[in-house]
Amino acid sequence: MRGNIMTTTVTRQIVKIEEELCDGCGLCVSPCAEGAIEMVDGKAKVISDELCDGAGFCLGVCPTGALTIEARETVPFDHHAVEEHVAELPKTYIAQTCFRCGTTEDDSPLMPVRNAGESTWVCTRCLPTLIHG
Ligand code: SF4
Repeated sequence: MRGNIMTTTVTRQIVKIEEELCDGCGLCVSPCAEGAIEMVDGKAKVISDELCDGAGFCLGVCPTGALTIEARETVPFDHHAVEEHVAELPKTYIAQTCFRCGTTEDDSPLMPVRNAGESTWVCTRCLPTLIHG
């Protein structure tokens, strides 16, 4: 319930975090454009179900497999709540870089990849050579 408006629930996909597997590295925070994941007492948490759209961009960067997508009953994803939440977040962020060429996300879109046992980032220019050699 938000304010005095009843919130119905729906069955939808949402991120699930296995706390026992989380080592607190924090890598999953920045891929979430909605700011739904924060570090709380050294563990990653989905701070509010209405902020998580279940897209799963955080999954690829987790080195321990702590993140999965599950389908369960919860509140609907709320774009308005996300806009309010993101507006309150600090405007600073740590730009990620492509592990192959060093391009930052300010210059080229980056995608999370697993490479040689590491969770890292690759830019869209390097991705084709990563795939095709
Ligand atoms: S990336 Fe995985 S291990 Fe690191 S904080 Fe997030 S859930 Fe925990």
